[in-house]
Amino acid sequence: MGNDSASRCVACGDPVSADEIGLTKKLINRGTKEFYCFRCLSEHFRISEENLREMIIRFRKQGCTLFSPWVEDDNQNHTEVKS
Ligand SMILES: [Zn+2]
Repeated sequence: MGNDSASRCVACGDPVSADEIGLTKKLINRGTKEFYCFRCLSEHFRISEENLREMIIRFRKQGCTLFSPWVEDDNQNHTEVKS
């Protein structure tokens, strides 16, 4: 997999994950083509990164289509990874 198409934070240039892309869309604009990493979102909105991650979990549990679906054993227990 090449990294050419990887989205990057427009503020700091770090690669952004699917969660960061979803959260940028949620907080800024669904149609935005510019994404921010957790750290820059945190600074911009003055929300701690921990709270941003909690927001993502809440959105996922609500079934928000901007994020991957929530599954029950997606809590802290990541000891077993099913494929
Ligand atoms: Zn950034």
